[in-house]
Amino acid sequence: MSSRQATAIIDLDAIRHNFDQVKLRAPASKVMAIIKADAYGHGASKVAEALVAADAFGVARVSEAVKLRESGIGQPICLLEGVNDPEELNLASVYELQVVLHNQEQLELMANRGARRHVWVKVDTGMGRLGFSVEETPSVLQKLGHQGLLGLMTHLADTGDRRSTMTDQQVSRITSLANDLDVPGSEVLSIANSGGLLALQKPPGDWVRPGLMLYGASPFDDLDPIPSLQPAMSFGAPVISVRAIKQGESVGYGGIWTADKDSTIAVIAAGYADGYPREIAQGTPVLVNGVRYPLVGRVSMDMICIQLDHSYSEEAHSVKVGDRAILWGDDLPVEEIADKAGTIPYTLLCGVTARVNRQHRSNRRG
Ligand SMILES: *Cc1c(COP(=O)(O)O)cnc(C)c1O
Repeated sequence: MSSRQATAIIDLDAIRHNFDQVKLRAPASKVMAIIKADAYGHGASKVAEALVAADAFGVARVSEAVKLRESGIGQPICLLEGVNDPEELNLASVYELQVVLHNQEQLELMANRGARRHVWVKVDTGMGRLGFSVEETPSVLQKLGHQGLLGLMTHLADTGDRRSTMTDQQVSRITSLANDLDVPGSEVLSIANSGGLLALQKPPGDWVRPGLMLYGASPFDDLDPIPSLQPAMSFGAPVISVRAIKQGESVGYGGIWTADKDSTIAVIAAGYADGYPREIAQGTPVLVNGVRYPLVGRVSMDMICIQLDHSYSEEAHSVKVGDRAILWGDDLPVEEIADKAGTIPYTLLCGVTARVNRQHRSNRRG
């Protein structure tokens, strides 16, 4: 029996396969698996439990780290945005979290409290967002005191474009900074995200920080799926109605789609409140029993409609109430759906909402 609600089926074996791909590309590097935003919608605790081989995990918020600790995750956990007040600093120490240090306020906070352990110093080499400039980094390190310095971290800004020259510049900035410094720990570098791992011949750094590629999706702007990765999420929902409509009748809010012939419509129990984008194009494919059908009419809060007797398919009438429609997943790449929605896989995966039932599957143990 399929439950009458949207489900995201998460293949933990696929995530482990993708992790192995990270190791293949950067065999000498340690891996900080990025599982912020509930592991990009895949369920952070379950993903962390599956990734026993990860050397560390990275999250954005203290609350995310605390949840992971409370679900029994013992590996190092890094707060990628660091701590921003005494309470967060205290939680970081209670839960033994690594912190990224990226601004003067955090430096004061930590210096005042004598908290200097498990710190990554973030250097802005071109992202223009978080981090100290290359020039100010030496004085930051001096003020911090190097006891417990884990290393220097930088974030690549333009890896969505495989041919960007920005990446090489950023890598050489952090590498030459590290060479110039004479501070224990500062020789340890954490650089590459998924784009860096997938685009660079030899991903640099002692640590790599893959996020999206662990979930099997492409970080590149071209939105071509990456053959060596396995998509981990199958996002779907049951068909809850199959009905005939007459030529000239319209479907959904605003009547933006009107049948040009007598047609059969299937209604699927997923909408924008589940994370299916409302802005998506008419005609976007939805997969039912292995056949693609076009989305018709506006995406509602709880439902979408597809046209069954469209020329895409010969098998219109094999669709029945209770069948599972796939919105993205196997045979319907999230990259393709992102393209139809004018967005990127990141936002679709992170946008799957809390009411969607996550079902984790694995054939492997450990
Ligand atoms: C999110 C994030 C990553 C992972 O990026 P992907 O493109 O998903 O691989 C790595 N490092 C930092 C600092 C991040 O915030």
